[in-house]
Amino acid sequence: MLTWVARLAKWCPIGAISMELVKFDTQLMQNAEISGMLYQQGTLEGYEVREYLLEKWQRACAYCGAKDVPLEVEHIVPRSRHGSDRVSNLTLACEPCNQRKGTQTAAEFGYPEIQAQAKQPLRDAAAVNVTRWALYERLQATGLSVETGTGGRTKWNRTRRGLPKTHWLDAACVGASTPETLQVQQVIPLGIQATGRQRRQMCLVDRYGFPRTKGKEPSTVQGFRSGDIVRAVVPTGKHAGVYIGKAAVRARGSFNIATHAGTVTDISYRHCQRLHAADGYRYQKGAAALPLHASNAGVPAPHM
Ligand SMILES: [Zn+2]
Repeated sequence: MLTWVARLAKWCPIGAISMELVKFDTQLMQNAEISGMLYQQGTLEGYEVREYLLEKWQRACAYCGAKDVPLEVEHIVPRSRHGSDRVSNLTLACEPCNQRKGTQTAAEFGYPEIQAQAKQPLRDAAAVNVTRWALYERLQATGLSVETGTGGRTKWNRTRRGLPKTHWLDAACVGASTPETLQVQQVIPLGIQATGRQRRQMCLVDRYGFPRTKGKEPSTVQGFRSGDIVRAVVPTGKHAGVYIGKAAVRARGSFNIATHAGTVTDISYRHCQRLHAADGYRYQKGAAALPLHASNAGVPAPHM
């Protein structure tokens, strides 16, 4: 991450960094539990409350325990029965449970313990990701101005601007400084994924610990490294042609090259010219380059 801050700062005039540091405003939510802040859908506070409830109820339906399903903010004592919008009267439920519960209280629905649980504020609400704090401190050390935002605010910003949920649009919506209108139509995001270089293991082993694959190839062969993007011009033979793609180097000096059209094998290093040295990152253009994992939904990642 710091490598990329340094690189980007070299290429573009970067003046400030916005970083998603926590999922919700811990101070605000501690006060909310004490003072009885009300939940209001669609407001920034509403988004903070939702993130808080997700954490408090472990991202599962309070009634059936379903995970990875859409969860609705649910009133334990329904509003129609004069239940309040206080955080202590709220939980999360999947749609079927919410429907079945109807106008019953949690106790009437068969879950008296939910009411007691809801009254307990989330303990250690301040226990945020230590790694992220460390990153925050190091980002500050760059001398750039660093703004932090919550995951709740990111979602609120993105939703109010009518933008779909993608990693790169979330990244563009971090922090209070997010412009009122974001021009995203012509933007093609560049996905950068750390791939590491070679495995440390010398070979893969089976479950008994016996070698399953042959030993690791040397990392550099004739000056080439696996992952290098190369251009090969093969003048003659059955592989005659021009290939551009990612090389997998072999000790004997003939490489496999993964091109757009498929992989060509056994191309001698003599025909290859390096276009781009492998640097431990994968680069891909376009939104498809930034997959969004279902399990990742709602879990903030550090954004710049
Ligand atoms: Zn449920």
